[in-house]
Amino acid sequence: MLAVKNLEVVYDDVVLALRGVSLEVPDGRIVALLGANGAGKSTVLRSLSGLLDIHEGTIRKGGVSLDGDSVGHLRPSALASKGVRHVLEGRRIFKELTVEENLRTGAHTARRQLKANLERVYGLFPVLADRRQGQGGLLSGGEQQMLAIGRALMSNPRYLLLDEPSLGLAPKVVERIRDIIVEINSHGTGVLLVEQNATMALQIAHHGYVMENGRVVMDRPAEELLADQDVREFYLGLG
Ligand code: ATP
Repeated sequence: MLAVKNLEVVYDDVVLALRGVSLEVPDGRIVALLGANGAGKSTVLRSLSGLLDIHEGTIRKGGVSLDGDSVGHLRPSALASKGVRHVLEGRRIFKELTVEENLRTGAHTARRQLKANLERVYGLFPVLADRRQGQGGLLSGGEQQMLAIGRALMSNPRYLLLDEPSLGLAPKVVERIRDIIVEINSHGTGVLLVEQNATMALQIAHHGYVMENGRVVMDRPAEELLADQDVREFYLGLG
């Protein structure tokens, strides 16, 4: 299990972004992390993947653990080799590289596995297989999101941290991304899903957390959050 406990994070020694956050991502589960802009969701993901440093962020209290071992001090590459992969917001792909070259940058494995993983990713995203020699930057927004997810899958992650994968995409593409997350999870990968699209996230998640001002204010099974009228109105901005 991947977890944060009583986590306090500051940026530049001044901005208190997390004020004692605890949450868990059990193996093989989809966990939704919801909340308004600035609530601290991306900061939770950065804490779990080791990316806080490059944003001048520091863990001031509490910790990050993987199977009970403290991993809050590890670099992103060390966490990636333990199976934790972070897909950043904004589809950060290498625009000048081909689709296949992009996918290869995500692999930490031996050649034989690399081939098998490529085939697996192409099976999941046939559109990437069709464009394998095309330039990443020429893909549509949805295809670039698929490429970003596909790249993370090249290392067979145990946990996938997804930051706003549906942002700016057309409803049909959002549906496709949703189905893909479900499919990835069905093969055993745990998913921590940060989403503005709360309905989509809660429909596929097992559990949901809602954050507000650096704190977790709701921690409940996803179907309960989706069904609760007050939660829908006050925390999720749904009708
Ligand atoms: P969004 O959806 O806008 O990304 P979020 O819920 O993911 O919001 P965070 O990005 O984690 O929230 O931000 C939490 C708080 O930390 C905010 O007040 C934000 O301004 C601040 N913050 C985030 N990144 C940095 C940074 N690199 N330097 C300073 N402050 C930051």
